[in-house]
Amino acid sequence: MKVTTTIAETWGLLDAARAEGKSIGLVPTMGFLHAGHASLIKESAAENDVTLTTIFVNPLQFAADEDLSEYPRDLERDLRLCEDAGATVVLTPNVEEMYPYPILTTVSVSELSETMEGAHRPNHFAGMATVVSKLFHIGGRCRAYFGEKDYQQLAIVRRMVSDLSFPVQVVGCPIIREENGLAMSSRNTYLSIEQYAAAAVLNRALRSAAELALSGESDAQILRSHITEIIATEPLVSAPDYVAIVDAHSLKPVDRLAGDVRIILATQVGRPRLLDNIGVSISTLV
Ligand code: AMP
Repeated sequence: MKVTTTIAETWGLLDAARAEGKSIGLVPTMGFLHAGHASLIKESAAENDVTLTTIFVNPLQFAADEDLSEYPRDLERDLRLCEDAGATVVLTPNVEEMYPYPILTTVSVSELSETMEGAHRPNHFAGMATVVSKLFHIGGRCRAYFGEKDYQQLAIVRRMVSDLSFPVQVVGCPIIREENGLAMSSRNTYLSIEQYAAAAVLNRALRSAAELALSGESDAQILRSHITEIIATEPLVSAPDYVAIVDAHSLKPVDRLAGDVRIILATQVGRPRLLDNIGVSISTLV
């Protein structure tokens, strides 16, 4: 496994690999890696000759009052995890390498970025789309792996690739969870033992709503109330910022469930804001 810190060096490695006819997989991350990230790297390593993992805590996607400077970091441990999962190149650029000048060019995906997380974190998705655009220009023609854990992000990246003709095939990967059902996240490290246990209610509530939907309840409002009531049983978990029931492809809210829908929520548990979601279609629980 090679570790690079510059874009030019990374291009060099990828150009050489492409010249040998090798396929490239790209796994963008912000580091402090866990089994969720490892699953993306493993998937890429299984489907491509070369897997480029990037580790970059992107300042553009943090608001002034968010946790940029305290975002957890452990590069040594991350590199071990990358190697074990099958990464062949890891790019760990610093902020000056990624943004040598104050940035004047940004990418934003309207509409899809305005609801749910976008409504609570105004510039977050433009920051994300901008850095992902840069990473796609670094990775070049490739498959790129993103987790369904950040479902809205995945939908935005897919749309950006389509709108701007990036030579990238986006691959969505399932949510990896802790034993208690909590979706793995680098920010779970902020949770106390009690909060960690309490946060399992998010997945419990989503699963319960999905089961209700599969047993015939198609009223989105009833399902949303059901979720909110279950979450309210855990005093350490705040009332959700939102519980959205949306079409799985367009992310448009639905009043009555039909076809593929996604139930998506975000809530505060102590310090971190946690996200989770579940897919519901005619006969499957994801
Ligand atoms: P992050 O480092 O949080 O920016 O995440 C990098 C990538 O890993 C994104 O595509 C996330 O959706 C994905 N990811 C994070 N947590 C999980 C998880 N628990 N299961 C699957 N993918 C995840």
